Amino acid sequence: NELEMYYQPQIDAASGRIIGAEALMRWNHPVRGLIMPAEFLPFAEESGLIVPISEWMIDTLCRDMAQWGTDGANPLTLSLNLSPHYLDHSKFFETMRNALERYDIGPGRIAVEITENICIRNPQYAIEQLRKLGQLGVSVAIDDFGTGYSSLAYLHRFPIQTIKIDQSFVQQISDEDGHYPVVLAIISISRGLNLDLVAEGVETEAQARYLRAHGCSTMQGFLFHRPMPLGGFVNVLNS
Ligand code: C2E
Ligand code: MG
Ligand code: MG
Repeated sequence: NELEMYYQPQIDAASGRIIGAEALMRWNHPVRGLIMPAEFLPFAEESGLIVPISEWMIDTLCRDMAQWGTDGANPLTLSLNLSPHYLDHSKFFETMRNALERYDIGPGRIAVEITENICIRNPQYAIEQLRKLGQLGVSVAIDDFGTGYSSLAYLHRFPIQTIKIDQSFVQQISDEDGHYPVVLAIISISRGLNLDLVAEGVETEAQARYLRAHGCSTMQGFLFHRPMPLGGFVNVLNS
């Protein structure tokens, strides 16, 4: 019981409102302190432990969501990161469907984030997996867009709703009057394909203003909030 889910608010920068949160995993190690996912998830993937960890994650997230309190008209969405290994696992769809039912959560409130690398080996298979997610009623976002093997030949065929601009691109924005062609190109791709766009790793006002000026208004990053435990997130929602 040393794993814990943290939540990072996602903001509509035009209104300043919180519209959702991304769930990020932490390991509270009794001796080593807080361990970040990049440090332990690769071992979980290698050893197969990612399967029970992901099942725990899904149940915990759905249970936690019940405590967010719902503003009926505008329910917040939860983004969760899914390991490709677990997506391949036959139990994923059943686990997800059961958890949504058990905690009475509309699937429309869930966005699954996957990286574009799931599509390298077998794009046709990836498309099928994404379709199955769509059948569950959850939406799909491509995380870290532009850093992996994005195949523009396939992107328009993927049944996805959102792309997330990777923080490495956002962090290049140092001057709001500057010119950042990769960011602009990703914004154009999202428009052309009619996809929602989220910028992550937004740390400065200049970055937020540049992104907004060019048409990306959903953001997450330290400028707004750091990832935080459930209690802190609920406090922020109620403040
Ligand atoms: P990601 O999904 O791209 O998550 C974004 C990462 O950026 C998170 O790191 C977050 O804490 C960090 N971040 C957010 N805002 C800022 C900012 O303004 N500046 C900077 N420098 N960083 C920011 P984190 O939590 O260490 O997660 C790293 C990666 O681990 C995630 O990347 C995701 O791929 C994976 N991961 C995290 N939680 C889970 C999980 O529950 N399940 C799975 N399968 N993967 C997870
Ligand atoms: Mg993510
Ligand atoms: Mg990312």
